[in-house]
Formats: sequence, C-alpha cells, structure tokens
Amino acid sequence: MEKIGRRFEGKVAIVTASTQGIGYGIAERLGLEGAAVVISSRRQKNVDEAAEKLRVKGIEVLGLVCHVSNAQQRKDLIEKTVAKYGKIDVIVCNAAANPAVDGILETKESVLDKLWEINVKTSVLLLQEAAPHLQKGSSVIFVSSIAAYQPPQGLAMYGVTKTALLGLTKALAAEMAPDTRVNCVAPGFVPTHFASSLTTDESTRKSLEEKTLLNRLGTTQDMAAATAYLASDDASYVTGETLVVAGGMQSRL
Ligand code: NAP
Repeated sequence: MEKIGRRFEGKVAIVTASTQGIGYGIAERLGLEGAAVVISSRRQKNVDEAAEKLRVKGIEVLGLVCHVSNAQQRKDLIEKTVAKYGKIDVIVCNAAANPAVDGILETKESVLDKLWEINVKTSVLLLQEAAPHLQKGSSVIFVSSIAAYQPPQGLAMYGVTKTALLGLTKALAAEMAPDTRVNCVAPGFVPTHFASSLTTDESTRKSLEEKTLLNRLGTTQDMAAATAYLASDDASYVTGETLVVAGGMQSRL
C-alpha cells in the first residue's frame, strides 16, 4: 500500500461484517490511519483471526461477534464499543446477503424478507442504537453496489435493496445533519468470497473486466480508500452522496 495519512487519529470506527473482504479492507484502512476499529461478523473464530491480523499491523482493535440480524448482538456491539472507547465517530454499514438468484417474481417471501432485513433494515436498527453516542462531526457510510443503479438479472432483488440504500443515504443525511454526515459507497465488482461465483470463472471475470473503463476488477483497497475519504474530514462538506467506485462502469450521469 502506498503511504497513507493519519486522518482518524483519536477516532473510533465501527465496521459491520468486517472479518474479510471489503469490510475488513475498510477496517484495516481506518485503523492504519489511526482509528480504533471495532470489527465484527457472525463467527467468533473469524472475528478472532481478523482482529489478530489487524493487531499485528499495529492497529487498536476490538473484535465482537455481531450477526446484524441479532438485536442483542447489535446492542452489545454499540455498548461494548462505548464502554471501551467512550464514543463513536464512524459507522460503516457493510453487511449484505444475496440468498437467491431467482427472478423477482419467483423470489420466495422468506427470501424477500431476508434481503430487506440484512441489506437495509438492520442498518437502520444499528444506527438507532448508535445515534445517542455519535459525536459532532461523525460519519455514517453505507455500502451499496453498482447493482443499485441497474439491478442485473440474477441479482435483481439484491440490487433493489442496494437502491434502497441510496434513498436511505439521502433521508438520513437530512435527518442526522448537521452533526453527522451520511454517505454511501457503491462498489463495482471486487473478487471476494461474496462475489466468487462471478469472479472465479475466467470468462465471466473477463466480461466483467471489460465492462469497466479501467480493464480490471476493483480491490478491497479501492473500496477502503473511497470509504476512508467519505468518513474523513476531507469530506466535511459532503453529505447525502453516493460515490461509485467501479472503474468507470456505467452507473448514472
Ligand atoms: P465477503 O468478502 O463475502 O465478506 C463478508 C463479511 O461479512 C464476512 O466478514 C462475513 O463474516 C460477514 N457477514 C456475512 N453475513 C453477515 C451477517 N449477517 N452479519 C454480520 N456479518 C456478516 O463480502 P464482500 O464482497 O466484502 O461484501 C461486503 C459488502 O460489499 C456487501 O454489502 C456487498 O453487498 C457489497 N458489495 C460487494 C461487491 C463485490 O463485488 N464483492 C460489489 C458491490 C457491493 P462471517 O461469515 O463470520 O459472518
């Protein structure tokens, strides 16, 4: 990684779903820039391993189990963060699920519920829990997707939940101003476990690369850099915005 700054010295950042992939990359970046980072995911083993990897890099880290659908674990995430660090400066809502590849009209009600719950509702509930502890100058970032703009076949309902995050960003930016800024990152394709069905097959991967102007997939570091910018004081006059980080893939004008 090229030389990076220390924009988060003295700050406390929570990143959900952060034991691997984009969430881990964001936690690492915020931590390397000086934040105390609170990482979490569903499995204790993953939490312990990721926390250790970050500590080895000199990052101050608290690792907690938090399945975002579990109300008690969401409460613990906030309470234990505040008990240890006394405040919250940054929250990155990064958890998502894509349980099915059916067309929207064939998607079962239980799957529709799960998509809404994990991808949208639990972020709202977590922020309700966190709001009393958010500092003046704090920042919320949602992780949406390029699929938010044109939900693709096979990812259509998932894409629609990501479209909802664009609206949530606008609505909460108004509601939480002026003390808290609310922004969103919309990644293109990044070869993580989540995207493995798309990115491990050579021809699919190549066709995705060709959809970009930069002829490559994104990296977790690309997403982390954009998130860190939005969460930092460098973006202190930016709120209610979505930053598309997709190598020039078609999104919007
Ligand atoms: P990933 O590499 O598969 O990582 C997922 C992380 O989330 C893991 O740490 C996992 O750990 C945790 N997790 C999964 N379900 C969870 C839950 N219910 N509660 C809490 N933690 C949970 O995924 P990713 O590709 O980085 O995706 C992260 C975000 O980026 C998602 O919002 C996704 O929609 C978005 N995104 C990804 C891409 C892409 O191409 N990769 C593109 C656009 C948007 P455990 O298994 O221990 O829970």
